[in-house]
Amino acid sequence: MANVVLRLVTKRFGKVVAVDAVDLSVADGELVVVVGPSGCGKTTTLRLIAGLEDVTAGQIVIQDREVQKLPPHRRNLAMVSQNASLYPHLTVYGNLAFGLKMRGLATKMREKIQDVAQMLGIDELLDRRPDQLSGGEQQRVALGCAILCKADVFLLDEPLSDLDKRLRREMCGELLELHRRLGTTMIYVTHDQEEAMLLADRMVVMQQGRLEQIGTPAEIYDQPRNRFVADFVGEPKINLLKGRLEYGKNGVVLFQNQDLQLTLPRFLAERLGKSKPSDVMVGIRPAGVCLTDVVSPDLLALQGNAHVSNVRFLGPDQLLSIQCGKTAITSVVSRHIAVESGQNRNFFIAPESLHVFDRRTEEALGRD
Ligand code: ATP
Repeated sequence: MANVVLRLVTKRFGKVVAVDAVDLSVADGELVVVVGPSGCGKTTTLRLIAGLEDVTAGQIVIQDREVQKLPPHRRNLAMVSQNASLYPHLTVYGNLAFGLKMRGLATKMREKIQDVAQMLGIDELLDRRPDQLSGGEQQRVALGCAILCKADVFLLDEPLSDLDKRLRREMCGELLELHRRLGTTMIYVTHDQEEAMLLADRMVVMQQGRLEQIGTPAEIYDQPRNRFVADFVGEPKINLLKGRLEYGKNGVVLFQNQDLQLTLPRFLAERLGKSKPSDVMVGIRPAGVCLTDVVSPDLLALQGNAHVSNVRFLGPDQLLSIQCGKTAITSVVSRHIAVESGQNRNFFIAPESLHVFDRRTEEALGRD
């Protein structure tokens, strides 16, 4: 087990800055998930830690030892990538044995392999070759190789991306259980924010080589640092509405655009009242756009002519498309709420689901 620290790590490929001055500290035994859109530098970050790419600048420290100049095999890491990269001509047993022999760990090999195979539920598959396994089974074998080699850190690069959504969910559960049992430090890369939230102790959100925010899934979801993070995390996507803030009497702050008005909650109004920004973008999580007959004083009334243009069934919830003039808003409400497409209804906003961003810098405003 080990901690991993990146200090101002940069990687350039010619003119492309794949990783841009990334500072990251992963604690011993932590499961950190790096997430972001395609091309944001996730895989390169992992390959830099593994030693498969050289850093252009910065330091990488593993278990208090600077490693950026060490070759991959001297870093004691195991990398499991998208394509499970098993030896096709060897059986599952042969694949699991290979790493042990290479590392001189072959004593009691059969027992060690049997134990790990049992832990991963692949003990019935030891005589098969990789092409006789499903994608999920191949991933388990690759994980088995990593476990047997007693790597200090597991680097997992989209290991579940070839699997269908249901199997991915299942494998996420298994991976969490495995992490709990082994306690090994893991750095996991995915472009899927849902998978990231399911797995992560902490999430790292990247964009264009930069680390945009790091925090627990709840911190990232509830307190996004900027518009990009708010927009990237959460399904369905956050509603983003352009508009202006007006500052009235008694500290009242009103958000308005051409179609609607919203009085901001007191805590936000107080904080914004200090710098008085005007051109903003308001973000509202769909689950915070409420339709209720019992109006709680905590809820903020959405003033405007809200028309329900579409209702879709999501199992426990319903997905509503609301049209307020030209402004489109998405809402997720319980399926038990009676609502039909074509109705004009009053909507309310839960204050904690509301975020205000500076329109120019896109940074979150009025947060701690
Ligand atoms: P994906 O989710 O699509 O795998 P990613 O977030 O893992 O993307 P990287 O593969 O790290 O992104 O790539 C980051 C940037 O660096 C991209 O613009 C990519 O084109 C570029 N890049 C990666 N490897 C190389 C390379 N060997 N030579 C030149 N450019 C590269």
